[in-house]
Amino acid sequence: MRRVVSHIRLCAVNHAKIATLDALATEYVRLCQQYTTYFCTDAPPDKYATPCFESPLSQRWQRVVIQHAAGIAHSWRSNYANAYQDFLDLLAEYKEEPEGEPPVWKEWNTPTLKETVIQANANVALLQPSEDSSFDYWLRLSTLECRQPILLPVKLAAYHRQALAGKALNTSTTLTRKQSGWWLTLSYEEAVSIQMRHDAPVLGIDVGIANFITASDGKKYGTFQGKLAARHKRDREKRRRKAKLRACLKNKGIKRLPSTRNKKLARTVRQEINRAVNQLYADHPDAQIAYERLNVAGMKFKARRMNAYLYASNLAYIPKQVSWGALKRGIQARKVKSAYSSQECHRCHYAARTNRPSQQTFCCQVCGHTTHADVNAAENLASRLGDTELQACQSRADIKALLARRHEEWQQTQRLAVVQPPAELARQPA
Ligand SMILES: [Zn+2]
Repeated sequence: MRRVVSHIRLCAVNHAKIATLDALATEYVRLCQQYTTYFCTDAPPDKYATPCFESPLSQRWQRVVIQHAAGIAHSWRSNYANAYQDFLDLLAEYKEEPEGEPPVWKEWNTPTLKETVIQANANVALLQPSEDSSFDYWLRLSTLECRQPILLPVKLAAYHRQALAGKALNTSTTLTRKQSGWWLTLSYEEAVSIQMRHDAPVLGIDVGIANFITASDGKKYGTFQGKLAARHKRDREKRRRKAKLRACLKNKGIKRLPSTRNKKLARTVRQEINRAVNQLYADHPDAQIAYERLNVAGMKFKARRMNAYLYASNLAYIPKQVSWGALKRGIQARKVKSAYSSQECHRCHYAARTNRPSQQTFCCQVCGHTTHADVNAAENLASRLGDTELQACQSRADIKALLARRHEEWQQTQRLAVVQPPAELARQPA
């Protein structure tokens, strides 16, 4: 697991060195943008691609740029593919049971690099311990001028030194240009082994607004309702007032306008989510976790009125924290396919929207199995962890067909159970 130590200030550097670094960064970002667009539209992202754009940067720097751009394009492409698959699933769902407006796909723009960030490796930026000065390291950085590297002094704060003590640093470094100057990020690898038996009990978790996390054993963690919702409502009123004030100030030609964003509320929501996730792991130290990949766009689409809630509740942050929390603790947590997990009956596998008479309740239309809707979903997710047949399904339609087959099998076992008693009765004397 990679641990990063950021916010290391590149200090006491003279103006000439800063100017050299800025000039290098300008070329770096310009070329990185070219390759990013290229890898997103014209060619698959390839770290080893042959250089195809003119640049004053050295061969080594160009390779670093190509690697950086390939990384950005790779995650953009996979996010795009996931979002498009989510859209197709949503469309398929809509075609099954049309309700309201059909979902619409909005084409994505390719990424625009807004920040000045250099992701370097030892070929262009070599970190060397300093023995003869008050600095901790020297960063030996190649520049636009051939064979004229600059030496940037790196001084660690006490807490940086503590965090890095005895650690073997990675040779890759990140340099970030902020208004306040240049900042350095270092990293090291920390081995966390998963110490979990293969037959450890599986806990399924369902993510939602009413309860941030519902576990398949029925336990619930965190909620957006109550305290947070009340705060959010107050916040919205405040934002509305601020927006009016902004409009008023803007008319008067005032340049510096007050922000309408509330970072504090977003932070509180994240803290509540962290607390919920920590409690989940404290209660289940020996379980392996099955969780769903969230289709946030789909959830937004289905619950327009809840849009503001979804924004504030930051739902996508929950699975991220769950997976991070597991990694940190050496617990196994895996994503499972979530199609129909909230409509499928955990007992008889009958899947239909009518199984959900309300947001909260699950009531199977065939076998009558009744439980909390989120618990039913979490139970389904838990049993999908070892379900290789379901995990192998390529599409929503495949999953639906598989569930229909399992329901059919369930019905057959029921028929046998129902048919047997009268046959036995007939054998008895009248
Ligand atoms: Zn059922």
